[in-house]
Amino acid sequence: MKAIVLDLGGTRLKLGIISGGNIIAETVLPSYSKNGLLPRLPDVEIAIHKLLQSTNTEAAELTGVGVSIPGIVDTKNMTVLSINQKFSDVVGFDFNQWSQKNWGIPTVLENDARAALIGEWQYGAGKNCDNIVLVTLGTGIGGAAMIEGKLLHGKHFQAGCLGGHFTVNLHGRKCTCGNTGCVESEASSWVLPELFKKHPDFASCKASGEALLDFELLFRLASQNDKVAIEIVNNCLDAWSAGIITMIHAYDPEMVIIGGGVMKSADVILPYIQQKVTERAWTPWGNMEIKAARFTDEAGQLGMAHLLTPNP
Ligand SMILES: [Zn+2]
Repeated sequence: MKAIVLDLGGTRLKLGIISGGNIIAETVLPSYSKNGLLPRLPDVEIAIHKLLQSTNTEAAELTGVGVSIPGIVDTKNMTVLSINQKFSDVVGFDFNQWSQKNWGIPTVLENDARAALIGEWQYGAGKNCDNIVLVTLGTGIGGAAMIEGKLLHGKHFQAGCLGGHFTVNLHGRKCTCGNTGCVESEASSWVLPELFKKHPDFASCKASGEALLDFELLFRLASQNDKVAIEIVNNCLDAWSAGIITMIHAYDPEMVIIGGGVMKSADVILPYIQQKVTERAWTPWGNMEIKAARFTDEAGQLGMAHLLTPNP
């Protein structure tokens, strides 16, 4: 059996065909997510049609369409309840009707961090472990939790997936979610340009001449002993550590898996967070394992295909 998977990221739409836990074909489209998703669907449908053709996939082979999205997802009715500053038109959209109309198959919809957790649990860093917290560090900060093999959803489908919006600074920045001092509004790609520009010594920092103020630049300058960059890196590492310690206290995992684009600097991030967690988390049973995600990009797609497998 094969599955169509669709990862709706804020900048990229990743489409793929999965068979037996492997991505056998994939393509990427720009999201233009500020304009919403619905205007992109005709292009998505054409791209999926091409993928099905190139893999000689018959309709009868398909289990369904797995869609992951960075929002709060009602997994009973397969609709998006709320989404933050992108794809605003998907709230209430009937994905199931869309996939039934196009390919005669159902849609399974899930939050993107939860989908990545399932992918890592089945095929990656979380194999053989049923108590996992996953955190993604990137444009935003995603989170998901699994307790005793069950993905946490909660009454309003918010359980476990708002780790990026745990308060880590009482006097912090206003977040896009309405809260202040969230992990995400203290240390994520969207706030990083502001962290640079509002630093009192920004003019003396090498980043002041750069057009793109991203984490790659930040970690590179910090490794070259740039004072401003080191200070910002340490603040970010502290915010991530505080958020992860709170997730550990909340969900009692055996391991924390960290993924996302920022993990290109895992050699700096992992030991720092491991040390903070060892020092500060209340885990009388032992030492929490902090691991890098195995997959940089594909965990969500593999997770969605797993959720479409009969009796997973
Ligand atoms: Zn927030």
